[in-house]
Amino acid sequence: MNAEKTQLILQSFGTFDTNEEDTDGPVKERCKDQREALFGEPRCVNCGRYGEYICDETDDDICSKECKQILLSKIKNDEKPTLKISIAKVPASDECFYVRDDRSSAESLNINQIESLRAKLGISVWGESVPGPILSFSSCNLPKKLEENLENAGYGLPSPIQMQAIPAALLNRNLIISADTGSGKTASFLIPIISRCSHIRLQHLLPSERKPLAMILAPTRELCIQVEDQAKILAKGLPFKTALVVGGDAMASQLHRMQKGVELIIGTPGRLIDLLSKHDIELNEVHMLVLDEVDCMLQRGFRDPVMRIFKALSHPQLLMVSATISHEVEKMANLMTKNLTCVSAGSPNMATNSVKQIVIWIESKIKKKKLFEILTSEKHFKPPMVVFVASRLGADLLSEAITGTTGLKALSIHGEKAMSERREVLRQFLTGEVSILVSTGILGRGIDLLKVRQVIIFDMPTSMKEYVHQVGRASSMGEDGTAIVFINADDKKLFQELFHNLKSVGAAIPRELSNSQYVMGGYSHARQRKKRKFGA
Ligand code: AMP
Repeated sequence: MNAEKTQLILQSFGTFDTNEEDTDGPVKERCKDQREALFGEPRCVNCGRYGEYICDETDDDICSKECKQILLSKIKNDEKPTLKISIAKVPASDECFYVRDDRSSAESLNINQIESLRAKLGISVWGESVPGPILSFSSCNLPKKLEENLENAGYGLPSPIQMQAIPAALLNRNLIISADTGSGKTASFLIPIISRCSHIRLQHLLPSERKPLAMILAPTRELCIQVEDQAKILAKGLPFKTALVVGGDAMASQLHRMQKGVELIIGTPGRLIDLLSKHDIELNEVHMLVLDEVDCMLQRGFRDPVMRIFKALSHPQLLMVSATISHEVEKMANLMTKNLTCVSAGSPNMATNSVKQIVIWIESKIKKKKLFEILTSEKHFKPPMVVFVASRLGADLLSEAITGTTGLKALSIHGEKAMSERREVLRQFLTGEVSILVSTGILGRGIDLLKVRQVIIFDMPTSMKEYVHQVGRASSMGEDGTAIVFINADDKKLFQELFHNLKSVGAAIPRELSNSQYVMGGYSHARQRKKRKFGA
C-alpha cells in the first residue's frame, strides 16, 4: 500500500485539517454537537469525536455530557469500555521505554475504530493487549532528531506494517513482523532500536563504557550493508553508532570499531561467531535482537550459529522479520521466547500485489533467446532490470552473453565474488552505469533495489519462498513493477504452489501449468473429476 492510499484511509479517520475554531462555550450536552477530532487531538473514549473534556470520575477524554453518562453506565455494567483501559493492562514485567504521548491518536481511537483501521490497512495482529496502530511517527515520542531524520528521508507517513509494529516494539514485545516485500519492514525495527538505544544513551541509563545494546542478524552481506546504511541515515546526529560484521571485509577493522564502542551490531551469523569466539566482546547489554529474513535464518545452515548467538545474550527482546513466515518458523519462535505477538500487513507469503507476474512457459534451451528478445524490445525492456539465475557460473556466463549478444552492459553478482567487487557491482547498478544485473538468490532477500521495476526470473528458485522474495525486488513501497518468469517441466516441484499463487492474484496462467498433472485443482484434475463422475 503506498503513502497516498494510506493517507486517504487516514483521512477517513478524521486526520484531515479543518479550520474549525475551538470555542469556549457551555459544556456540550449532546455527542452530536461535538466536532470531529483533529489529528493529534484527544478523542472521546465513547464516540471518537473531539475529547474536549476530561471525565472527573474516570479521567477519560470525553466529548459531551451525553458520552460521560454512557461511559459511566458502561463502567457500572462492568463492561470493557475503552481502549485506554486495555492499553493500561500491559503486563507489569514489560519494561516500557515507550512513553505514551497523551495526544497520541492511536490511544484515542476506540476499539471499533482500531479494528476498522486495521481492516482497511490490511493489518492483522495476534497476541495479548496489542497496542493500536500509530497514525504518525510523531505520536510515538521518538527522539526529535530521529523524527527530523525520518522527515528528511522522505518518510511522511508510517507504512501499514510500521504503524502496527513500531508501537508494539516500543512496548518491548517479542514480535514476529511479516509483510509484503518492499513494505518498509526494515524501518519498522530500526526506528524502535534507534529510539530505545538513543534514549538509554541520552539518559545515561546504563553505566557502561558503550557496550552494544542491539544486534541485527541477516543472511547476506549485501542486506547487512543496506540495513546499516538505513540505520545511519535514520540515526544521524544521535548517540548511535553501528558496527558491520560481515565476511569479506577485514576482521581487524570490524573489531576495532566494536571496541571503540557502538550501540548496534549488524552482521551475518558466521562472521559474528568467528569474531565473538576469538575476541572478548561483551554482549550482556544487548537488549534487542532482530532476525531479519527469519525464515532463512532459522533454516539449517544458519540455525546453529543463530541459536548460539541468541543463547549468548541475556533474554533480549526478539524481533523476527520476513515476508515469508512458515508454521515451522512460528513454532521455533515460540520455543525461543514467551509471549509472542505477531503483526502482519498486506499478504505475506504471497508475491506482492504490486508486481504483475507474467509467467512464460519456455523450454530451457531457448530461454536465452527469449531473454535477448525481451532486452532488445523497446516495449518490453524496462531498465534497470535484475535477472535471477540458479548458479554462480550461470550468472557470470549469462551476463557475458547478454553484453556479447545485445551490446547492453550487464554485470553479475554472487557469493563467490570478493566483497569489494560485489560492492562495486552494486554501486554501478544503483548509479545507473549498468542497467542489467544478473544475480543468484543473494539479491533476492530484503535488498531494496531502488528504481528496479522489472525482474526476470530466468531460473525458477528452489522454493516458493525465494520466488516471493525475488518477485518482490520489482517493487518498493507499493510501487508497480513487473516480474517475467520463465518456467518449464523442470520446475514441477513448485507447480502446485505457483498455480495457486498466480490464481489468487488473478495472473494469467500458462496452459501447460494449469493442465499439469502436478497441479491439484488445475484444469487436468477438474477434467479427471468430471470424467469420473460421468463414468467416462
Ligand atoms: P524495505 O521494505 O524496508 O526494504 O523498504 C523499502 C523502501 O521504502 C526503502 O527504500 C525505505 O527507505 C523506504 N521506506 C520505508 N518506510 C518508508 C516510509 N514510511 N515512507 C517512505 N519510504 C519508506
